[in-house]
Amino acid sequence: MRDAPLLTLQGLRKYFPGRGLLGPRAAVRAVEDVTLSVWPGETVGLVGESGCGKSTLGRLAVRLLRPTAGQILLQGSDISDLSERQLRPLRRCVQLIFQDPYSSLNPRMSVRQILAEPLRIHRLVRGRAEEEERIEELLAQVGLRRDALSRYPHEFSGGQRQRIGIARALAVRPRFLVADEPVSALDVSIQAQIINLLCDLQEREGLTYLIISHDLRVIEHMCDRIAVMYLGRLVEVLSRAELVSPRHPYTEALLSAVPGLDRTRPLHPVMLPGEPPSPAAPPPGCVFHPRCPRYELAGRPAICREQPPALVALGRTHQVACHLA
Ligand code: SF4
Repeated sequence: MRDAPLLTLQGLRKYFPGRGLLGPRAAVRAVEDVTLSVWPGETVGLVGESGCGKSTLGRLAVRLLRPTAGQILLQGSDISDLSERQLRPLRRCVQLIFQDPYSSLNPRMSVRQILAEPLRIHRLVRGRAEEEERIEELLAQVGLRRDALSRYPHEFSGGQRQRIGIARALAVRPRFLVADEPVSALDVSIQAQIINLLCDLQEREGLTYLIISHDLRVIEHMCDRIAVMYLGRLVEVLSRAELVSPRHPYTEALLSAVPGLDRTRPLHPVMLPGEPPSPAAPPPGCVFHPRCPRYELAGRPAICREQPPALVALGRTHQVACHLA
């Protein structure tokens, strides 16, 4: 059924130089050795607490950031090291939808100008009539009326602005959309509308999604597979059906905080001690061990403190990084 992945991240790392008041500090290891594939038509969710590196990973996937090490393969071609000019044709294939549509839309441009810009940059239309036709088609795709065209971003609600952002991303007819917290800035009542719009568009346009969210409900609703991140690493990758039987203690804790998602477990949330460590000074061994309930229950085995666990396959869709899984 599956031929080749649309996107493959292979051993990906992203370090940012650390800076303090008194000069350079240890590098911030935002993404550490991430390997993940996304197949055509699939929706993969990336979930984890804020600061776990999921937005950085999303930006690497669309090559807004250059990796420190590792490969980004888009349709089999390595794009990790391409220049901005070399990337331009690929920008049509992959688009990013931002969390805050307001800050990503130029306030001085009307909706018509916002939607015309990518069409012109990528020379996707010939003449004004074709441009107008395509712009109207885009508006209809995202459920906005034609009278939106002459208006400016501040004249719209948050949900409508996100629709404009989605229409702009669709203008280049991408195959792959990375959506970074696409609904977290919106009212709860509007969130469902945007989620449904993204699901409809996927069905109609055959799109592939990487959805980044801290909200497991959004991820569970939209995604075929879920990749759980902790301190820059993938700790578990599992299908939506496998959410009822997570194998990593961090995934268990995340799920336990969302009543009703994990129906096989008690309703009281698993409280993890302390805060996630700094990505500039990750703990040795398994980076989760200072907060891990399973490590405590097992009598603090040395392997957890000394050896980083690899992400190993438990089944066709299930991978976990835990020595005791
Ligand atoms: Fe916990 Fe050890 Fe598994 Fe890490 S490897 S998640 S510390 S049990």
